[in-house]
Amino acid sequence: MEFHVDLGPQYEGEVIRKEDLYMEFGGPKVAHKFELATLKRPEEIENEKVELIGPDISELEPYDEVKGGGSYPIAVLVDIAGEELDKDAESIIERKIHMYTNYTEGWYHMNQRDAMWMRVNKDCAKKGFNSLKELGEIYNFLFTSEMAIIEKIQTTIITDEEKIAKLLPQALEIYKARDNRALTLRDEDVDTFYGCVLCQSFAPTHISIIAPDRIANCGAINWFDGRAAAKIDPEGPIFAIPKGKLIDPIKGEYEGVNKVEYEKSLATYDRVYLYSAFEHPHTSCGCFEAIVFYIPEVDGFGLVHRDYKGECVIGETFSHMAGETSGGKQVEGRLGTGLEQLRSPKFIQADGGRRRMVWLPKEIKERYREAFEADGVYDKIPTEEEVKNVDELLPYLEKVGHPWIKGEVELPE
Ligand code: SF4
Repeated sequence: MEFHVDLGPQYEGEVIRKEDLYMEFGGPKVAHKFELATLKRPEEIENEKVELIGPDISELEPYDEVKGGGSYPIAVLVDIAGEELDKDAESIIERKIHMYTNYTEGWYHMNQRDAMWMRVNKDCAKKGFNSLKELGEIYNFLFTSEMAIIEKIQTTIITDEEKIAKLLPQALEIYKARDNRALTLRDEDVDTFYGCVLCQSFAPTHISIIAPDRIANCGAINWFDGRAAAKIDPEGPIFAIPKGKLIDPIKGEYEGVNKVEYEKSLATYDRVYLYSAFEHPHTSCGCFEAIVFYIPEVDGFGLVHRDYKGECVIGETFSHMAGETSGGKQVEGRLGTGLEQLRSPKFIQADGGRRRMVWLPKEIKERYREAFEADGVYDKIPTEEEVKNVDELLPYLEKVGHPWIKGEVELPE
């Protein structure tokens, strides 16, 4: 197949900065965006069809260094069919949208689900790539040539904001159902975890460990998804990890995980704790949904998510902190994480868990209300509405009697 640009893994890791930006879809400036893969019956799919609903690249104003603009809503819907495919494969195929967009010369993809963000550069536009239909054709081509298990595919790209806004709640429900399913299983119930190295193009020493109690950093792959991916795409970036001997049940250290961490991190790290932010915390790539950060002034933890606008309680923005946390490093006291991790009983359990959280964005506190209520700290944790900086933090925590400040949280031994 002929395209205006070249395709291949060599283009992964290509970052598009403002100077080279032609246009972007999704991302923080855009309210409505999502990507979704759906398994359908073969008769529901018109094989290799690409449909665009809404204005195309050639009809949209590009980004202008003076005027700005150039950011547009988008939904990418990939429908697939195949005798050997099951529902578990959906999230894996969806995550490959990230990979295949990045395989496309001049295109860049970050994040996932309803946080996805794509950029196209000026060179690509100059080469004549001026239709999103071509991107859809590239997806159809790469999915079917790389994954024999996909027998039929059709891609729909929507840029009509009204239509995207209408479909987005259904997508959110699907993401939620996937996440809820994973809550039924604990790490001790299985012998196999999964690893993902898809983000090594950006973060060469990063490996996501995916366990029942640990959704991947990007929040897009849970243990069930990892299992499905390793089965349908054995040569792909997601693989099984025999978890091996449990070295430390509190910190979450496993012999098999350490071994894989060493092999896949270019021998940079040989230990990883799955349930702690200290000593050997999980590596952080760049796709994480949120950052858990240590606040030395109160010896507690805060969390800031990707959509949080402005400076958080420690006076830093998400993007500034992400710069220091990402790249595949283990950074003590800084943990890139998937948000669903907050529901896990093992969430930084060695460090005090949710009861050591002393600041949260309001949106996240509400979204995970149940988990914090179960731990009796929901009404003790301030948000940006009550506490704006570290100076205000300790007096507030003392006033409300936060259990960590009162010394009521015992660290497990
Ligand atoms: S964040 Fe982790 S799980 Fe998600 S795509 Fe990247 S490496 Fe894979």
